[in-house]
Amino acid sequence: MMEPFLSRLRPRKEQGTYALSLVYGKTVYHYLISQDKAGKFCIPEGTKFDTLWQLVEYLKLKADGLIYRLKEACPNSSASAEAAAPTLPAHPSTFTQPQRRVDTLNSDGYTPEPARVASPDKQRPMPMDTSVYESPYSDPEELKDKKLFLKRENLLVADIELGCGNFGSVRQGVYRMRKKQIDVAIKVLKHSTEKADKDEMMREAQIMHQLDNPYIVRLIGVCQAEALMLVMEMASGGPLHKFLVGKKEEIPVSNVAELLHQVAMGMKYLEEKNFVHRDLAARNVLLVNRHYAKISDFGLSKALGADDSYYTARSAGKWPLKWYAPECINFRKFSSRSDVWSYGVTMWEAFSYGQKPYKKMKGPEVLDFIKQGKRMECPPECPPEMYSLMSDCWTYKWEDRPDFQTVEQRMRNYYYSLASRAEGSPQCGQVAEVACG
Ligand code: AMP
Repeated sequence: MMEPFLSRLRPRKEQGTYALSLVYGKTVYHYLISQDKAGKFCIPEGTKFDTLWQLVEYLKLKADGLIYRLKEACPNSSASAEAAAPTLPAHPSTFTQPQRRVDTLNSDGYTPEPARVASPDKQRPMPMDTSVYESPYSDPEELKDKKLFLKRENLLVADIELGCGNFGSVRQGVYRMRKKQIDVAIKVLKHSTEKADKDEMMREAQIMHQLDNPYIVRLIGVCQAEALMLVMEMASGGPLHKFLVGKKEEIPVSNVAELLHQVAMGMKYLEEKNFVHRDLAARNVLLVNRHYAKISDFGLSKALGADDSYYTARSAGKWPLKWYAPECINFRKFSSRSDVWSYGVTMWEAFSYGQKPYKKMKGPEVLDFIKQGKRMECPPECPPEMYSLMSDCWTYKWEDRPDFQTVEQRMRNYYYSLASRAEGSPQCGQVAEVACG
C-alpha cells in the first residue's frame, strides 16, 4: 500500500493562504488552505478550525478530502511552517481538497487507497471528533427548523439529574431534530411563580442563542411546557474543578493547559462579539471529555452595545466576589478585561487541581488583600509561564491587563511548546501525553 511520506506547508503570496504539498506514491498533490473572514482555516469544503495547528492535527487523523491523511513532514518543512505560523508545533503538515495535481512522477497511474481514519483507541479524542464541536444546526437541513422555542413533542426529559443551580435542576434528555436526535442537558426552572426568575432565565437563553463556538455550551432552544426549560448541548464530563480534584497524578499539567487554552479560545470569541460573561470560574467550565472543555452558565452575562467596552451594573447583587476584578466590586464595571481577571482565578483553580481560591478568606477580605498588592501564590504543580500569565490577568488597573486575544495567544504558545517538546522526546511521560494521548 502506498502512503504519503512527505508533506510541506508554506505561506503563499496571497495573505492568509497556505499551500500544502503532499507526496503520495510518486505524485505530488498541492492543496490550498485559506482563511475566512472570521480567521478560520480550512481546505476547500473541509472542516473549519481556529488555528492551523488544529487543522493539521485533524488532517493527521482524518483525510477530510486529502488524498490521504497526513503522515510525516518534510525534514525542512517545520522551519517554513513555523515562520508562517510561529505557534505551530514542530511538524505541521496541513491542507484541503486537491486544488490541482502537478508534478506527476509516476507513469503507471495507480489507484490510491481510500483515506482511512486513525484508530480511535490509539489516538486521544479530538474536540472536532465529538458531536458537539459543530452546532447541530450547521447542517443546512436542520437550520431550516432553527427557532428559539422548541416543540415539547420533540423533547424527552429523562429523570436523571446532571446537576443543580440557582434556577432548579439540570436534567438529561434527548432532542429530536429533522434528521437526527441529540443528547441534551435541560435546565428546568423550579416551580416558581416569580416572574423575575422566568425573565432571568429567558435573558440567559437570549444571550446563549446569539453564540456559536466549539468552546461554548450552545443553546438548542427554549421549551415552555410543564416548566420553562433551557435546552443545551450536553457536556457530560461535569465541571472542571470537580473533575480535577485528587487527580494530580493522573492528569498531567499539559492536559490542564490544553483545557485552559480551549477556555481562552471561547473567551476570545466572546470578547470579539462584545459579550461579557461575568461568571467565569472553573465551576462554569464543563467537560465534554478529558480533552475538551466548554464555557457554560450565561446567567449573569451581558451583550455590550456596539460602542461600549463595559457594562455598569445598577446595583451589586449575589456576586462571586473572589472571581471579580477590583473595578467590578468598586465601580460595578464589567468588561472583557474583568473576565480576564476571572480567567486568572480559573487558571489558579485548574493548576491547583480544584482547590478553592483565597481559601479561608471571605469575599470582602479578598478585596483588601488585592488592594495591598498581594496575590494568590503559585500552585505547586503550576509551571512558571502559567503563573506569570495568571499574575498578568490580575493586573489591578483594567487598562493595563491583557485582553483575551493576548491571553489566548500566550496559552497557545505555551501549550504548543509542550507539544513540540513532547514530539522531540517521546519518552518524556507527562508532556508526551499532549502528543500521544
Ligand atoms: P448551572 O445552573 O448552569 O450552574 O448548572 C448546574 C450544574 O448542572 C452544572 O454544574 C453541571 O453539573 C450541570 N450542567 C449544566 N449545564 C450542563 C450541560 N450543558 N451539560 C451537562 N451538564 C450540565
